[in-house]
Amino acid sequence: MNTTTPQTQKAHQILNIIWGILTALFLIVAIFVIGKSTQNSLHEQLENTTKQLSIKIDKLINRVTQSVYSTTINTQTMMGCAQLLQPQLQHIVRNVPEIAGLSINEISHDSQKILTCSTFPADDLKLNNSGLENSLNILGPVQLKALEHPVLILRQQLGQYIFNIAIQDNDFQKLFKPAIPFAKFVVLYDAIQHKILIEMLLENSLEQRWLPANTEQINQTELLIKSNPQLLIATDLIRLNHSRVLIGIDNKQIKHLIIRNIAIASLILIILSLGLYYFIRHRIRQHFSLHRALMNAIRQGEFFPTYQPIMDRRTNHCCGAEVLLRWQSTENEIIMPDSFIEYTEESGLIVPITVDLVKKVFAESSMLLENNPAFYLAINISAAHFSDPYFFKTFITLCEKYHIAPQQIILEITERNLLYHDESVINTMQMLREKGYSLAIDDFGTGNSNISYLQRFPFNYLKIDRIFINSIGSGAITESLSLSMIEMANRLGLKVIAEGVETYTQLESLENNGAYLMQGWYFSKALPFESLISFLNRNNTP
Ligand code: C2E
Ligand code: CA
Ligand code: CA
Repeated sequence: MNTTTPQTQKAHQILNIIWGILTALFLIVAIFVIGKSTQNSLHEQLENTTKQLSIKIDKLINRVTQSVYSTTINTQTMMGCAQLLQPQLQHIVRNVPEIAGLSINEISHDSQKILTCSTFPADDLKLNNSGLENSLNILGPVQLKALEHPVLILRQQLGQYIFNIAIQDNDFQKLFKPAIPFAKFVVLYDAIQHKILIEMLLENSLEQRWLPANTEQINQTELLIKSNPQLLIATDLIRLNHSRVLIGIDNKQIKHLIIRNIAIASLILIILSLGLYYFIRHRIRQHFSLHRALMNAIRQGEFFPTYQPIMDRRTNHCCGAEVLLRWQSTENEIIMPDSFIEYTEESGLIVPITVDLVKKVFAESSMLLENNPAFYLAINISAAHFSDPYFFKTFITLCEKYHIAPQQIILEITERNLLYHDESVINTMQMLREKGYSLAIDDFGTGNSNISYLQRFPFNYLKIDRIFINSIGSGAITESLSLSMIEMANRLGLKVIAEGVETYTQLESLENNGAYLMQGWYFSKALPFESLISFLNRNNTP
């Protein structure tokens, strides 16, 4: 059964539009926010990394300088370098692994005479002493003859002494090695001389292998640093003047990550929003469901009766009419019972609908019935009416109120939802028969009803369903079935009403087999009450 009402469709359309717009808006905002926040958090991460690195380097420098500045140095020890100072210096070099060599210079007041005490061969560490401040500086890298690796020189002047501490650059490199995601290079940079002191390059972003750069690469990196300062993260060292740790951001990797994050977030957003969409759709469906529409129709009194004439072929008069329900929906269209009757019977809504319908029928037809005592109305009821404890009481009260004689009413009970062989149902039916109401079994032959069913329930009419009538003249098996149904009904003393008569052939065949009560489009479709009156006036006047 199609339960989609026009309101539902309209609400769905509105939902589709709003959902589309909102989802697109949310997606745009999400893309923007996630892009920005991913970038910010990566920058923060890299800033932390440079800070950690600079702290490590500061610590290394501290350790190294502390060990050197604790030696006793004076002109005397300087003069007796080989015996007095050099052994001390060599002891330091041996015990502090980062120190590759040491040299101390003493400058006389007139700066003419320089005394040197060093762990290096005499001519190995010839450094320009000019331009020194009292603070600690770093120079290099320089390749000393005595050492395998290039060294960086930590240099500081304290009074007339200048300390030169050689640290092998691979000791710094060790500090640089840990994984630094989203970085292209990490360098120790002299910001005054614009010179790279130590550089590590990421060889392969997948494996995160940092390699010390060769001189050519240093030049390239120096160029990069000068041309793209926005792609750098920097932290100044505390212990070293003008020196800072620089990390070169790998923008490509960051872009990839941002795109990936955006893709994941968009997917989650779309899944969530689809979930929400279907939830709202479901709620709309519920809201505008057939049930609500029917409840509303009952409240608004949108159901009304039509009457399909029943002909007595013996007199060729209209002897009665079947009341057929119609629903005038708010959209000004008339809805046929086939699309909703099953649901109303299942849900029990049919009971208030029938009560309302019967009131309307009796109000407009009581005069007709009173003036034509042989005329009857057939009213459709179902198992749901028997399950309701008040329906028949109400029905009988209405008949009394409108002065309708029970002999003028046939209750058509469809076998669609077969009445259980329940004592109380049979009792109710018997009570109705005793009061004078007729009972017809409707749609006979289409469901579970059989001859024992007919014997058990106190029916006095049998309506042959239109599918059987339809087959008359076709030679199909159902044709002979409908004829034997008539025979059986006659034997059981049931009056037969043949429904759905459309052709003269059907009429003739039915008449020849002893069925003379007929209903169908051959005579008339279901009519509004006024048209029924006209029909009667045309047909029933002798
Ligand atoms: P039904 O009780 O078997 O009613 C006869 C149906 O056959 C009606 O359809 C009628 O319009 C249609 N019909 C009559 N003559 C012909 C014909 O010559 N050819 C064809 N093709 N059809 C014909 P309708 O009005 O659409 O009703 C459909 C069903 O809805 C009814 O079948 C009945 O079971 C149910 N129904 C209608 N009104 C009520 C009601 O007030 N209460 C209950 N419980 N059910 C109702
Ligand atoms: Ca019927
Ligand atoms: Ca029928």
